Amino acid sequence: MTEARQRVAQVALPVPMPQCFDYLPPKGHELPPIGSRVLVGFGPRRLVGLVLGHTDSTTEPRKLKPIDQVLDEALIDEDLLVMHDWAARYYAYPPGECTQLLLPPALRRVEPFNPPGPNGFQLTDAGQQAEPKRSPAQRRVLDALAEGPQLRSALVSLGIQSSTLKRLVDKAWIEAVSIEPSLIAREGPVLSEEQRQAVGTVCQAYGDYQAFLLAGVTGSGKTEVYLQCAIECMARDEQVLLMIPEIGLTPQLIERVMNRLGTAAFVYHSNLSESERLACWQAARCGKAKVVIGTRSSIFLPFKHLGLIVVDEEHDASYKQIDGARYHGRDLAVWRARYRQCPIVLGSATPSLESINNTEHGRYQLLKLTARATDAPLPQWRIIDQRNQQEGLSDTLVGLIKKHLASDGQVLIYRNRRGYAPVLMCQACGWQADCHRCSAHMTVHQNQKKLQCHHCGHQSALPHRCPACEDPKLQALGAGTERLETTLAGLFPDYPVHRVDRDVMTGRYDFERLLEEVKNGGPCILVGTQMLAKGHHLPKVTLAAVLDADQALFSGDFRAPERLGQVIYQVAGRAGRVVNDQGLPGEFVLQTRHPEHALLDRLRHGHYLGFATQLLAERREAGLPPAEGLVLLRAEAHQPEAAWAFLQDAQKLWQQAGLQAQGPIASIMPKRGGYWRFQLWLQADTRATLIDTVARTWTALYGLPSAKKVRWHMDVDPTEL
Ligand SMILES: [Zn+2]
Ligand SMILES: [Zn+2]
Repeated sequence: MTEARQRVAQVALPVPMPQCFDYLPPKGHELPPIGSRVLVGFGPRRLVGLVLGHTDSTTEPRKLKPIDQVLDEALIDEDLLVMHDWAARYYAYPPGECTQLLLPPALRRVEPFNPPGPNGFQLTDAGQQAEPKRSPAQRRVLDALAEGPQLRSALVSLGIQSSTLKRLVDKAWIEAVSIEPSLIAREGPVLSEEQRQAVGTVCQAYGDYQAFLLAGVTGSGKTEVYLQCAIECMARDEQVLLMIPEIGLTPQLIERVMNRLGTAAFVYHSNLSESERLACWQAARCGKAKVVIGTRSSIFLPFKHLGLIVVDEEHDASYKQIDGARYHGRDLAVWRARYRQCPIVLGSATPSLESINNTEHGRYQLLKLTARATDAPLPQWRIIDQRNQQEGLSDTLVGLIKKHLASDGQVLIYRNRRGYAPVLMCQACGWQADCHRCSAHMTVHQNQKKLQCHHCGHQSALPHRCPACEDPKLQALGAGTERLETTLAGLFPDYPVHRVDRDVMTGRYDFERLLEEVKNGGPCILVGTQMLAKGHHLPKVTLAAVLDADQALFSGDFRAPERLGQVIYQVAGRAGRVVNDQGLPGEFVLQTRHPEHALLDRLRHGHYLGFATQLLAERREAGLPPAEGLVLLRAEAHQPEAAWAFLQDAQKLWQQAGLQAQGPIASIMPKRGGYWRFQLWLQADTRATLIDTVARTWTALYGLPSAKKVRWHMDVDPTEL
């Protein structure tokens, strides 16, 4: 007996399995359309899922469950579904976990989400006549609203309680109302010839796909190019997506965009509340949001009429997600622009080798901004030998700091290490404080009197004696930002020293506040980590220094030289954006124990693009990305043998599929958080063969018995090893 084939919905669910699940239509209804959000039973749980397709089921209908409830019909648009399919296949990731990216958190939950009401209040007719008795608080609200509608936040800042507002709404004296900030677009600066040409070229591409790499030295006015392009895009009644690295999305930037474009910019990033994210998601979808500024995850927002995508600081590592679905926000942005047939601008002072490679192959068009908008010269370079120096600062550098401070300049010192010192060592027996869970030293945090592992977070008290030989002579080796701050404060007691790292900048606006203070202030020293290196406008900095970049010179990660070059050019670009009032030109200093290293020589005597082109040629020679594709299979386990065994099984599986898998080899950090980490390198003759073969075969890993004993994941186009 043959059973009639039953049409079912293929539902993606947030479970770590590489397939969709079949469900019957809800009782008495048709199948919901593709892109619908549904509620279904899954084992004992109820889950929110997304319908990704319709098919004839191969399972007996009586073994299938019906969909419990259709939450929204066709909520997700076709272009996002197609991008999702592409991403799930390309990045070898379970479709159900990948669909989570398409939904703001409020729409992933089973419980219905009630977004908060409008953002302001106004008086009703009754309220205009009202005379509240014995309630000065209510009187204050009515007085405040007498002049017109007010934002809830403005009323709260007057000390008015939510309960007071609710009571007045209940009395029908006031009512909730949505208030749009009225903004008038401000005139921008006059564009340079290069900027004007860049804007013109991008705007000619409207209505069509074209990718541009805007390579502009620091201070050349890339943001102004983005804004002019955005103005043209909005004039066509189309929406703009401006993607920014996590660290760069500041209130300053949002304000600048709103003031120049004369429209409310909607913001999307993971630190917003659920309702803020939902509001942005909805505004983008209905077309109300003309401009969205977002971090990597904003590439999954729905847009009614997307007309332009800009990816600022396109080389930034934060565009690559490094857990869960390991997608690259910049690469998906390019994909989406092509699908939506709109231009995309990737901007950076130090573009990634991936993007430079694409310009060399004619896939992206290169637009260069070589002149600094302020006409300030690029800073002079110096490489200083820091061997035999104490506390991380050489005498030469101290002398330079003194000179710049005395001439009213500000000094920026970059050190990619927080804490007091990276190593604690016993002078008697050579013992070093290591993390027992990671292959790493513990970092000394002197102020908090503790040792901390920066990889797994493990902490312990700072010992007074060596745990091995009980000798009290423990020495902190090297200098992190905390120690540099102390040393600099001792050397320059007459000037403020500001430290910028995650240990001190804990509040949402701490860094903003400091930047404002520094911008308006006199000579001072800033010492900090990556936070400090990125695109902030610090016009009074005349001396910038990178300390102890030596780790990158000898790293096992093939991307280390590229990253070092980017940091050095970014930090150097901070110095001398303007020539100081006293005519002091900007200076840049690199302190190293290997001043003769060939890479440093190349960095000093070239410009970034020349340096990067040379690196790219070396990568080609070595068969490394971006010249060749690379996929990693990583496995972690408490027992190294378990990870090893799983990777060997995977290797056999791929050998049968005709794919070369090298390894297993230990990760650059072989142990982290108590797990031993190994990986396989997958490469093939062409990138297409690699991606296709991986996409066809990777789900078979779930069937390997050895997979149950390890944590594993695929990483396509990995950015860390
Ligand atoms: Zn000892
Ligand atoms: Zn650790």
